[in-house]
Amino acid sequence: TDGRNPEVREATVSTADGKPIGVAANVCTPAGLEDAVRQGADGIGLFRTEFLFLDRERPPSEDEQYEVYREALEAFPDGRVVVRTLDVGGDKSLPYADARESANPFLGARGIRRSLGPDADLFETQLRALLRAAAAESGTLSAMFPMVATVSELEAALTAVESVATDLETAGIAHELPELGVMIETPSAALSAADLAERVDFLSIGTNDLTQYVMAAAREHDRVADLHDPCEPAVLRAIERTVEAGHDAGVRVGMCGEMAGDPDLTALLVGLGLDELSMSAVTIPEVKANIPRIDATEAASLADRATSATTVEGVRSRLAADDAGAG
Ligand code: PEP
Ligand code: MG
Repeated sequence: TDGRNPEVREATVSTADGKPIGVAANVCTPAGLEDAVRQGADGIGLFRTEFLFLDRERPPSEDEQYEVYREALEAFPDGRVVVRTLDVGGDKSLPYADARESANPFLGARGIRRSLGPDADLFETQLRALLRAAAAESGTLSAMFPMVATVSELEAALTAVESVATDLETAGIAHELPELGVMIETPSAALSAADLAERVDFLSIGTNDLTQYVMAAAREHDRVADLHDPCEPAVLRAIERTVEAGHDAGVRVGMCGEMAGDPDLTALLVGLGLDELSMSAVTIPEVKANIPRIDATEAASLADRATSATTVEGVRSRLAADDAGAG
């Protein structure tokens, strides 16, 4: 056998009324690629690249990264692999990069803020590896930027991509521009989603961080765990608004936070209009089984009822009374 789980659907799935929904995997190590294939992922919706950079004395070379990105594309020859550029800072630091601590690391220099500042050299090397890998025959490479808070940051990141493309062109090195996307993880990004969407090919909602920042309740913080709930009406409204802004700009909108893999929320997420859900590989078969039982029109009215609830309990009771299908 090829190691695939016989329980999984290998083909892409659509709702009962024919809306295709991408079901992709979140992967954070090369070993995770195999799991994603085995569980029937359509592609990789979030390839976290921190593993390449953490626990070592020196950053990975361009060639080392290129090989890893190629490996991911080869695992999904007909799919899309969305690689997220380095997202350190917050709770993760690098021994070879600027390690100044700040009192509130999650509100400090993390993700794209570092890539456009103290880690610009790491960013450039990663972009070179990504643009080279994008020229591969197998699979479709996309790249996305984490923790974007402003249109100016996105524009600076896109300028960095262009400048790397020019350098590769001048040096006669094979490369291609990947599709480019932005993660929606900050309230400012959700509120600026229309302006961000105009500049990219896709949006990807990171509900782990979006929830933390919308609710001002840290991830994995016992005393505020109740508040860190993506079903809070304010978080749902931020998601709803982001999806609408993306679609108005004609770009696809995915979700790659933990929420995307909660099988009890599949109908809600389809109803909110998400085009792709990306999750831990283990939850893929269940979510893929849910989707064909969902009617997208009924799910949209469920989403309307959920986003108009005033409390998280109200959201949950509306979901429990759901007749939109699975979930
Ligand atoms: C998120 O914030 O929802 C996300 C997917 O990114 P990470 O969990 O890696 O911060
Ligand atoms: Mg995040």
